[in-house]
Amino acid sequence: MGLNDNLHQLAREHLKTGPDGKAHKVPALLEELRQAVTPGNSMSGGGASGAPSPINVSALDLLAEFENEARRDYYEITSEGWQSTLEELLQALTAMDLSAEWEAYLTHTTKDWVDRITAMLWPNKPRRKLTGKKCPACGLTTHGEERAVALSLGCWDDEGNMRKIGTWDIECAACEAAWSGDQVAYLLRALDTPGAVIVSEVAQVG
Ligand SMILES: [Zn+2]
Repeated sequence: MGLNDNLHQLAREHLKTGPDGKAHKVPALLEELRQAVTPGNSMSGGGASGAPSPINVSALDLLAEFENEARRDYYEITSEGWQSTLEELLQALTAMDLSAEWEAYLTHTTKDWVDRITAMLWPNKPRRKLTGKKCPACGLTTHGEERAVALSLGCWDDEGNMRKIGTWDIECAACEAAWSGDQVAYLLRALDTPGAVIVSEVAQVG
């Protein structure tokens, strides 16, 4: 993903592929982060009744950090202070003729922002343990002194939605063997854990 893609995701409504495999319009990531600062308080801005909603300090800190960084970078690039919002600053960047160094630096920085907002708003769900199943590579069902389950299935995307079955992966924590793509469905069948069963079980857990 290039700089303009990152800026677009951060500052503008954009299209995102949902668990159904179709593209949906979603709000700008910074917009979602601002909403997260005052959860449940986005409509009224502080009502007359009841206590005010607690502030999400992590979300606020993240916004302040991004704001400071963006304004500092803008000043270094243009020798002028930015007078408007962070979102407008990011959109202004897309129209600027940046040096290769700035382009690379800002691409890296904005990718980091996208990842950190995503991780905060949609924490990763844990991998699904395949309890009692024997790894076909090393033959173990558990490993380590704590007898942790060896095989686990990765089936969630970054926002906690179930990925399509063809994109799942299986890993063995004992021998670090890994399977992906079509191998996963084959392996689940071999382990007598059909994908359809997993899908319904996972859906109940999720
Ligand atoms: Zn193994």
